[in-house]
Amino acid sequence: MSGPRHLMLSGFMATGKTTVGRALATRWGVPFVDTDDLVIGAAHSVAADVALLFERLGEPAFRRLESEALARALASPRPSVIAVGGGALVDPNSRSRALASARVVTLVASARTLLTRLDRPGAARRPLLEGDPSTRRARLEALLEARAAAYAEAHAQIRTDDGDDDDPSAIEAVADAVERAFRAPGLVVPLGASSYPVRFAGAAGAGAIVRDLLDALRPSSWFHVTDANVAPLLRPAFLRATSSVGPPLAKIALPPGEREKHLATIEPILHAFVEAGADRGSLIVAHGGGVVSDMAGFAASILLRGVRWISVPTTLLSMADAAIGGKTGVDLGLAKNAIGAFHQPTAVVIDVRHTTTEPPRAFTSGLAEIAKSGAIADPALIAHLEAAAAKPTAASSIGSTPPGGPLRDLDFLEPAVVAAAAVKARIVAQDPRESGVRALLNFGHTLGHALEAAGGFERWTHGEAVSLGMVGALRAGVALGLTPRSDADRLIALLALLGLPVDLRRPEVEAALPFLSLDKKRRSGTIRAVFLTSIGEATLHDLPLEELARLYLATA
Ligand code: NAD
Repeated sequence: MSGPRHLMLSGFMATGKTTVGRALATRWGVPFVDTDDLVIGAAHSVAADVALLFERLGEPAFRRLESEALARALASPRPSVIAVGGGALVDPNSRSRALASARVVTLVASARTLLTRLDRPGAARRPLLEGDPSTRRARLEALLEARAAAYAEAHAQIRTDDGDDDDPSAIEAVADAVERAFRAPGLVVPLGASSYPVRFAGAAGAGAIVRDLLDALRPSSWFHVTDANVAPLLRPAFLRATSSVGPPLAKIALPPGEREKHLATIEPILHAFVEAGADRGSLIVAHGGGVVSDMAGFAASILLRGVRWISVPTTLLSMADAAIGGKTGVDLGLAKNAIGAFHQPTAVVIDVRHTTTEPPRAFTSGLAEIAKSGAIADPALIAHLEAAAAKPTAASSIGSTPPGGPLRDLDFLEPAVVAAAAVKARIVAQDPRESGVRALLNFGHTLGHALEAAGGFERWTHGEAVSLGMVGALRAGVALGLTPRSDADRLIALLALLGLPVDLRRPEVEAALPFLSLDKKRRSGTIRAVFLTSIGEATLHDLPLEELARLYLATA
């Protein structure tokens, strides 16, 4: 998968966009473009410097010129490093254009550092901060606050005030961190001030990316939460990579597995946080599968009425789905995810290499959520899965899914996870609290959750149950005349090729039906079910519970 052509550096005035941008342009041998220069180039008859031009034209006219300059810079076929004015991406249209065609990195620094830099002899004039010096800091902070949502909507945020401004090695360290953000794929979940990046770790590894994030976010303390299976496998390397930001205040290893995903397991975590000295500036790093992200995210949502958290998924399933979107929670008895909260993470960091230690069964389960994302919103992802599954060597890996084979190949896997994560990010951005379109992500989950519960959370993994649930929904969709039979057959064939269960029989359905009434999408006897209208498109349908049960049974 090829990345974007351009790197765009955004951020408040004096965060170092020109210095870091020039350093990277030199490093890569590409042009450095400052949109301020383009603006002046287009309006040199009005004024010869940006401050003067801003004053003469007024802010609205200046921003129009700036937006045109931005479009010209992005349209250039030649890769470049583009630095934009501090207010350039406040306009949502300019921002989405930039996010679509460049890797956007916001540089950040504290108000104190910014004022020191702005007061240096020879520093450029800043019309927005001129006037009464006694209120300057307050005005700067108000402007930072007003732009916080625009700055948060970026592929990464990198801090630039950790070293001495004149120290070339400090500039190089910032350039390294920006380069890490540029080199690997990246997505944004655009949710205003709660926007967050989904960063792929690439060769740098999850620890290095989380270290950059902790550097930028400056939590008062941080906590590492994983489970007892992941702790010995992945925690040591992760903690080595993050050691320069200081150790976590506590390391917590939850008992693993769905059966431990309940309230009684949450309470000791909360005690551990509070006893170790957590405060509202603390941050939780959830490093594990979907059970860890659901539980640690939920703990973050209720601890001191909400602290920040970063999700670092370690299973394919959690990379493609669970880690993104801010749904957190635990099961209550057999009621799946019945207790929970919407609490968006501050960032998601995906290192597909984490899947190499994942047990084959868990890995194959993850393919179910990836296939689901393709089925509801991305036909190209379905074609990608089909192509990988059809590779000659896949024959040995499908079914028994041993380590290796094309389905484990990171070159196949990373684009598949990027595509699935992009589907999730897009849908969550449209409907963060699942009041509408987000319910499409539940394709296969209505029956899937019921099958999971009927099997006591042991017979089927979540992904296996979702695979069977999709089979049920596809067949029911055909019976209702909503799903073309050829599309249903094609998807069921793909699920089987991926090594997922597709043999949905009547006794299985009968056992699951009593659990349908525990579904959260149920309202006064009606369930909002998801059906496919074609590959890549799904629709929501309200059906009486009995009608849905009858359809599942009739088609099993
Ligand atoms: P999981 O977290 O239980 O992980 C599966 C098993 O693999 C566990 O035993 C775990 O210890 C182990 N493991 C994890 N990473 C490993 C690694 N890299 N190497 C070796 N072993 C590893 O389960 P899961 O499949 O990741 O997630 C399923 C959960 O996610 C379910 O509870 C489901 O409800 C939830 N989920 C949530 C959302 C959401 O939006 N919040 C979406 C989908 C699923």
